[in-house]
Amino acid sequence: MAVKRVYTFGNGEAEGKADMKNLLGGKGANLAEMNLIGVPVPPGFTITTDVCSEYNDLGRDKVLELLKSEIEESITKIENLTQTNFGDKNNPLLVSVRSGARASMPGMMDTVLNLGLNEDSVAGIAKKSGNERFAWDSYRRFVQMYGDVVLGMKPVSKEEIDPFEKIMEDVKLEKGVDLDTDLDVSDLKELVVLFKEAVKEQTGQGFPESAWEQLWGAILAVFDSWNNDRAILYRRMEGIPDEWGTAVNVQAMVYGNMGDDSATGVAFTRDAGTGENMFNGEYLINAQGEDVVAGIRTPQQITKEGSIRWAKLQDILEEDRVMMYPSLEEAMPEVFEELNAVQKKLEMHYKDMQDLEFTVQDKKLWLLQTRNGKRTGAAMVKIAMDLYREGIIDDKLALMRVEANKLDELLHPVFDMKAIGSANELAKGLPASPGAASGQIIFFADEANKYENTILVRIETSPEDLEGMLIAKGILTARGGMTSHAAVVARGMGKCCVSGAGALKIDYKERTLRIGSDIYREGDWISLNGSSGKVYAGQVKTRMPDLDGDFASIMDFASKYTRMSVRTNADTPKDAKVARGFGAEGIGLCRTEHMFFEGERIKTVREMILSSDEEGRRNALAKLLPYQKSDFEGILEAMQGYGVTIRLLDPPLHEFVPHTEAAQQEMAKEMGISLAEVKTKVSDLSEFNPMLGHRGCRLGNTYPEITEMQARAIVEAAIALKKRGVITKPEIMVPLIGTVEEFKMQSDIINKTAKTVFEETGDTIEYMVGTMIEIPRAALTADKVAEFAEFFSFGTNDLTQMTFGYSRDDANKFLPIYIEKGILKNDPFQVLDQTGVGQLVEMGTKKGRSAKPGLKVGICGEHGGEPSSVGFCNSVGMDYVSCSPYRVPIARVAAAQAHILSED
Ligand code: PEP
Ligand code: MG
Repeated sequence: MAVKRVYTFGNGEAEGKADMKNLLGGKGANLAEMNLIGVPVPPGFTITTDVCSEYNDLGRDKVLELLKSEIEESITKIENLTQTNFGDKNNPLLVSVRSGARASMPGMMDTVLNLGLNEDSVAGIAKKSGNERFAWDSYRRFVQMYGDVVLGMKPVSKEEIDPFEKIMEDVKLEKGVDLDTDLDVSDLKELVVLFKEAVKEQTGQGFPESAWEQLWGAILAVFDSWNNDRAILYRRMEGIPDEWGTAVNVQAMVYGNMGDDSATGVAFTRDAGTGENMFNGEYLINAQGEDVVAGIRTPQQITKEGSIRWAKLQDILEEDRVMMYPSLEEAMPEVFEELNAVQKKLEMHYKDMQDLEFTVQDKKLWLLQTRNGKRTGAAMVKIAMDLYREGIIDDKLALMRVEANKLDELLHPVFDMKAIGSANELAKGLPASPGAASGQIIFFADEANKYENTILVRIETSPEDLEGMLIAKGILTARGGMTSHAAVVARGMGKCCVSGAGALKIDYKERTLRIGSDIYREGDWISLNGSSGKVYAGQVKTRMPDLDGDFASIMDFASKYTRMSVRTNADTPKDAKVARGFGAEGIGLCRTEHMFFEGERIKTVREMILSSDEEGRRNALAKLLPYQKSDFEGILEAMQGYGVTIRLLDPPLHEFVPHTEAAQQEMAKEMGISLAEVKTKVSDLSEFNPMLGHRGCRLGNTYPEITEMQARAIVEAAIALKKRGVITKPEIMVPLIGTVEEFKMQSDIINKTAKTVFEETGDTIEYMVGTMIEIPRAALTADKVAEFAEFFSFGTNDLTQMTFGYSRDDANKFLPIYIEKGILKNDPFQVLDQTGVGQLVEMGTKKGRSAKPGLKVGICGEHGGEPSSVGFCNSVGMDYVSCSPYRVPIARVAAAQAHILSED
């Protein structure tokens, strides 16, 4: 069968449907679906994402040839439905050409509106609509958009200004008017002439008059925009694969700028910031889609309730609100009723919060888009739980609606109520994206790294600002509403944002922010409360948020559906308690060396390291024993009977000695030896490649007395707790083994020591001895190792380092470049490389269990808190994952989701 590249929709029929997102992109699939469920959508067609890949592989000419007949047929379909003709001068069909990838990438790719207009058809449209101004305004917008997007006239750097904007400003200046809407027909005609001259001058070619030439140009430009810088950056941020490609949607135009019975807007079925179940959004009368998000005119609210709330925040009097900014509910009650019914229908149909785009043309409502709305972490949890309580979804689906990584936002600080009470409030804007942020002012996104904590202050933001927005701690804009670029993107990032703070007067040139008579400069500190829209002077104190209610319910669902348990990597009783609070069921990795650095201990550790014989080392170790014992007691007790994996000393000894001359001098004094002796020892310990040198079990096998001391401390701690009625089960873990013999030698020392302690105390405890699998050879010979080891824990930090041959400490020199160039998709130290390192993990698990069925297996590398890696661990049958305390909730949700998916 021939490959189908184009899918049509219109008039209640569609060739695609919602579950075809991969092929039709999110927008295309939902446009089709809306037709099928009776929502009014202008007719059109979708060119598949596969064609984008074909375009990238085969090039422009071949793709045009492949598409030609299907596109011609599809255009005919639209012509028939709209009773218009593409390219006709009296009754022309005008279309929009928009991108639409599988995952939504708001504002990242290109759009062309009003396509099909030319010198002849503009007159036809003027006649047909009876509105000459509208026709010419549409035409000048089209020439500008087409010039920017298709003919490459959009400025590339922040210093340049759009040539069309410049012409527009000049014409307005000449006419002495402020607003675009003050320009009359002759001005607009003049603009079109000037725009076209600019095109000719900059590109060397005339502006295309043929509708077909325009259409092909726009389709290819949308495909090209898949690979523009900001789209690439957005994909990196969101983990969207480059191969997906974008679909292209071509649709009959409908006009929100046909006069006062026309409007355009965006809306959310629930509040994307807080999750509150309140239909909300913004619209503008007599405007085209881009006007609402561009922040040029002040958008009005959709519902009356929303409008009243908004006016309060903006200090607008009720009578002014009704006069100047009425809600859609008040201004166009019938359209509002219809829109309200549509939003309810769509939310019920998709069983999730929807983000809608609509246009009203001469009182007729059209939906241009629906998609699952981007939301903050707090809104994500509340919406999932509300939909569950409303009976729309079950608990499993509620859990699946949670994007595990986004839970991180809920664990971030909020302002301390007391501190905020006494803070100096500077201005008020819209609560565009909740959270608390303090930072130093910067005015340009590419300077977001200038200080450690920055607040990006802009009149408004644009997609070019994306990277800086990601780096800044918060975003403050003077213009734009709740659906402005800044607001939407900030919510998607979970970043605190206050938008539309009208009192702000920003001077980019001077790098100043004026509020009333006060002037703030670049580098001054300000604080934002994204939940109230308030802006404060200076730094305001923060506190941790409360994590009960809906968050706790989601965590309960996670416990109900998970197969794996989640442990934590913790080295102190404090961390262990935090992790317990987040639901960690045990410790998967306690790095004992971290205890060696505190206070007086480091001196004793150094004494041990500098000793020239075993006796000296034993003396120093004897001094360390009580410290270690009390640390272990604290941690074992904090975990309340859950398993605690304690790893023996791992890093090279070199890390414990001082490296500056001053510190070496101090140490020499303390130890009563000469500086030269210290220097010699430090240089003896230095290694060319310490990560592959004298570390891990190699230390314990060359200096068995270290292992003895640590094993003794663990067993004595457990016995002491037992005496107090606290039952524990320590799991003693040997690091960095590559051969079974290395493990055996360590486990013999541990068992012998335990036996001695049992004899000395006349008491016993249960314990296990296992190993980390973090050297490829250990994974390859895991069956041999498992004959002796009682558990495995995959140390995927080292396993990644050694499988790739990338130094953990130096990889940052080249990894970002590798990722940018597409050599690697992700940083393998963050996201487990399932293809390569994953094979070793899977093989190690299988081989281990072939020798010892039921062998307990977990992971304790950083990957244990990364959702896709957690999913992989579930698929290879691990018993648990272990991660840092603040990632425990994320890992719990990811583990449960992975199990639900594996069962479906
Ligand atoms: C590992 O290598 O994955 C691990 C957890 O140990 P460390 O990071 O301490 O080397
Ligand atoms: Mg390691």
